[in-house]
Amino acid sequence: MAVLPIHVLGSPVLREETVPITTVTDELRRLADDMFETMHAAKGVGLAAPQVGRRERLAVVEVEQVRIVLINPEIVHREGDITWEEGCLSIPDVFGDVRRAAKVAVRALDRDGKPFEIEGTELLGVCLQHEIDHLHGRLFIDHLSFLKKRKALAAWDDEKAKYPAFIRDLALEVDTADRND
Ligand SMILES: [Zn+2]
Repeated sequence: MAVLPIHVLGSPVLREETVPITTVTDELRRLADDMFETMHAAKGVGLAAPQVGRRERLAVVEVEQVRIVLINPEIVHREGDITWEEGCLSIPDVFGDVRRAAKVAVRALDRDGKPFEIEGTELLGVCLQHEIDHLHGRLFIDHLSFLKKRKALAAWDDEKAKYPAFIRDLALEVDTADRND
């Protein structure tokens, strides 16, 4: 397995629509494994393919030690609303309160290409919605109010110089943070 470079805000791939996966190949399973490894190295709870520069409709989530591979995920049910402070491995050190559905049901294919459905609330529910957003070129900052988005982008202005060519190389990062973003 390998820790992959993470694309950060400014990299065009983060704003692109992904392409649905027609066949789950061994290469894609390896990609999912590498994405888990990358997510762990970055101390995150979810990672979507565009964040590692890929266009496949694939994301991984790990909440409370349960690993979930999501291929072609779709939200099939939403209920209620919740406000949660979110961050993103592609916008390091920027946070904001996002309002989302309190509970979602998601239909997807697993790493063997078999359909399954999962429900999530709280962190899992938020994480599912955040990662599925990534697969459609959307970022959590897009959900912020105008003023909060401006504040987040101003914070990012101070951060982005750390990431030449909009690439975050985790191997170069000293382990100073211990957050779950
Ligand atoms: Zn994210």
